[in-house]
Amino acid sequence: TNRTFTMIKPDGVENGHIGAILEKITASGFRIVALKKTQMTKADAESFYAVHNERPFFGELVEFMTRGPIVAAILEKENAVADFRTLIGATNPADAAEGTIRQLYATSMGENAVHGSDSDENAAIEGAFHFSGREMF
Ligand code: ATP
Repeated sequence: TNRTFTMIKPDGVENGHIGAILEKITASGFRIVALKKTQMTKADAESFYAVHNERPFFGELVEFMTRGPIVAAILEKENAVADFRTLIGATNPADAAEGTIRQLYATSMGENAVHGSDSDENAAIEGAFHFSGREMF
């Protein structure tokens, strides 16, 4: 069993999809280890997405991720990172497979409803960014 980290991004929250997305996640066999609704500051988003700071869309990404609340969660399942990436689908919802969270709920490449960690190492870093040990059960 291992863990991944996810955020329902501001578009997913604004569009009223928190419940549907969490339902899909738990119905797909993930256990919720930690969960909270929060909002990222500009400094939070710049640090969380630091790997992208040279990319042309970085400013847009930080603007988007801070424009409203998000839902952050740590999820547990065997093969969590890879299985969750499969469940959310491709970055661009136009390329996302049928039934994936992004195919169902994302609106564009930038506003793509959910985040999923891309490695075990990043899952641990990203989870620790949002949660203290006392919030993980
Ligand atoms: P995430 O890290 O959010 O799970 P990902 O791993 O599928 O997404 P990345 O390539 O790591 O995609 O990009 C991180 C995020 O940056 C994307 O989810 C998207 O919100 C945004 N993004 C990526 N490419 C673009 C782009 N060309 N234009 C606008 N935003 C983009």
